[in-house]
Amino acid sequence: MAEQAHQDTTRAGSTDLRLTVVYDNNPMKPGLQTAWGFACVVETGKTKVLFDTGGEGKIFLANLQTLGIDPAEIDRVVLSHFHYDHTGSLAEFLKKNPRVTVYVPKSFPEKIIEDIKTAGATPVAVTSFAELQPNIFTLGEIGGAIPEQSLAIRTPKGIAIITGCAHPGILTILQRAKSIFPDEPLYLVIGGFHLVNATKKQISEIIDGFKALGVQKAAPCHCSGDETRKMFSEAYGNDFYEIGVGGIIEVR
Ligand SMILES: [Zn+2]
Ligand SMILES: [Zn+2]
Repeated sequence: MAEQAHQDTTRAGSTDLRLTVVYDNNPMKPGLQTAWGFACVVETGKTKVLFDTGGEGKIFLANLQTLGIDPAEIDRVVLSHFHYDHTGSLAEFLKKNPRVTVYVPKSFPEKIIEDIKTAGATPVAVTSFAELQPNIFTLGEIGGAIPEQSLAIRTPKGIAIITGCAHPGILTILQRAKSIFPDEPLYLVIGGFHLVNATKKQISEIIDGFKALGVQKAAPCHCSGDETRKMFSEAYGNDFYEIGVGGIIEVR
């Protein structure tokens, strides 16, 4: 019984989640601009997190405006990795709202960290798994040639994972998530899976990996590639999201 009580405290509830893709190279809703890159606004009860910023500041801010999202409402920024198509709009965003904490992988270029400080925002270096806000977690910096962090949100349906480019490998990221949350379902994975140049065989193995890890819903976009989206669509059926800029996913 004591062990059960302990488990209950470590899993203090969950949070409803609303994800809005605000920057992506896949079109979805008319009136929004598409360009290579990824950014997503993550809304939970009290918090609005911007995950990545996309590349071109003008496009990013125009899309936010069209979607009715005020930059001033954003509490926190999480940058997956330093590539321009994920961080390029940061300076433009911080001009609109410098009152944010910006979480970056520890290995981030010093130049970007200095620019964050100069803009008046607060950079925080991420090394390992951490809870950034209630039920919003970074999986920590996952190394490799291009180190990257991904977000995890504990929703009533299970864990939702948001990836930037998945440079360390999408299955490596999901295995990390599973090791952190061994007893909770991986409900949703959204973002770049970095499979643009993958063969059908490789994509098929990735899908098998998703199924083996029990991933219930998949929303590949950005650098996932058209073939990946097609194959996930076939494998996941109604549990596949054809997501692009302007796409909204609600989990409650
Ligand atoms: Zn990248
Ligand atoms: Zn990218």
